Amino acid sequence: MACKTHPNHEHQHNPSCGHIAVHHEGHIDYLHDSHLHHIHGEHIDEHTIAENANNQTACTPEHSCSSHDQTHQHGPGCGHESILHDKHVDFLVAGHLHHPCQNHCDYHGNIHSA
Ligand SMILES: [Zn+2]
Ligand SMILES: [Zn+2]
Ligand SMILES: [Zn+2]
Ligand SMILES: [Zn+2]
Ligand SMILES: [Zn+2]
Ligand SMILES: [Zn+2]
Ligand SMILES: [Zn+2]
Repeated sequence: MACKTHPNHEHQHNPSCGHIAVHHEGHIDYLHDSHLHHIHGEHIDEHTIAENANNQTACTPEHSCSSHDQTHQHGPGCGHESILHDKHVDFLVAGHLHHPCQNHCDYHGNIHSA
């Protein structure tokens, strides 16, 4: 599988760099600017959370979750990490993905931090 390399990546990821480390398909990536960054020798690979059985992209109006109040609007600076999932942006809330949808948040599966 070819690497999708992140160009000009100056930052050095490590367990104490401040970015959230997550388990992704059997390895560990760092959550950096909504992307998953994977240390691959001398360069950084860009990984994306795929749509799959663990991280579905369904609309789930039944997902009720007390992790934030009903009026919370996800967006830049809302306090949740944004994270690319398939071709959209989700927010990491209490270990799972929220996708803003109409007047609710869709549940797009769990993310396991390392
Ligand atoms: Zn880092
Ligand atoms: Zn990865
Ligand atoms: Zn990075
Ligand atoms: Zn929905
Ligand atoms: Zn939730
Ligand atoms: Zn939020
Ligand atoms: Zn999603």
